[in-house]
Amino acid sequence: MRDTNNILVTGGAGYIGSHACKALAAAGYEPVTYDNFVYGHEGAVRWGPAVKGELCDRPRLDQVFEEFRPKAVMHFAAFSLVGESVSDPGKYYRNNVLGSLTLFEAMRDHGVDNLVFSSTCATYGEPQALPISDDHPQNPVNPYGASKFMVERIARDFGKAHGLRSIFLRYFNAAGADPDCESGEDHDPETHLIPLVLEVAAGKRPHIAIFGTDYDTPDGTCLRDYIHVSDLADAHVLALKALEDGAQTMAFNLGNGRAYSVREVIETARAVTGRPIPAVEQPRRPGDPAKLVADAAKAQKELGWVPKMDDLSVMIETAWKWLLKTQ
Ligand code: UDP
Repeated sequence: MRDTNNILVTGGAGYIGSHACKALAAAGYEPVTYDNFVYGHEGAVRWGPAVKGELCDRPRLDQVFEEFRPKAVMHFAAFSLVGESVSDPGKYYRNNVLGSLTLFEAMRDHGVDNLVFSSTCATYGEPQALPISDDHPQNPVNPYGASKFMVERIARDFGKAHGLRSIFLRYFNAAGADPDCESGEDHDPETHLIPLVLEVAAGKRPHIAIFGTDYDTPDGTCLRDYIHVSDLADAHVLALKALEDGAQTMAFNLGNGRAYSVREVIETARAVTGRPIPAVEQPRRPGDPAKLVADAAKAQKELGWVPKMDDLSVMIETAWKWLLKTQ
């Protein structure tokens, strides 16, 4: 048993990691952020100490494990742009896979056995059946998804060999911002639909591009399962508690089980912001499946996870408030 309540949060300065730090602090843990601050922001670290470091820097990781003696790790730090992973796969395999391997070896050598890993529905690839359940075959179709899939595999192997117990949380489309407006999405470059739509509403962009209008969906645009980032954060704390209670390695989908089209997102954003949001129809973006929707029943049943902000309007409203505060 560790003598601290410290949880090492890699990528704690990022979008989902910073919300998880808030949720950890609210649950009585001390989140210790480990981040290289390439995409993360120092201002996002508000609920515990921050250490600057690279995942692949083993001596730096050793210092952090020795200084903070964390009792578990939440591992968010990763590159996460699908398109970039296709054009620059080495960047993804080096940081996401080698970085995670280095982290897991440090955990092994410092006697830290509990891991909550930020995984993704991109590990499934093209869905064979909908909604996608946690035991859907994993056949990633891009290097980003493949890198996350490989990390899950490494963690499982470390479980068999070294006793690491891991919970893999496979997110669908993270959206929204902290309802108290203390954290939010701030990517550079921004590629995600909801923040881009809101930047159009704020007058920062002339229009939103709709990537593909000829999909086999009711309105021809892609369907995605959006999940509020604070609900994701809550699931991480529940996963940590499950590990503390002795849970064995397993995976959970995190989504609402309800799909919204690109056009529905834009319409909802128009209603929430009261602003005109010009949209321009464009060809499909390569690699986009028509429909992704989660079966997250297992997380609800086994972790007791209940998403509270499952309404798309609430997700967009919280993101809008954050944008207005930070612009
Ligand atoms: N999308 C779009 N225009 C944009 C950005 C995204 O039409 O400027 C679409 C994209 O093709 C996908 C959906 O919005 O169908 C969600 O994309 P996002 O990049 O937010 O998340 P992803 O599903 O790729 O993880």
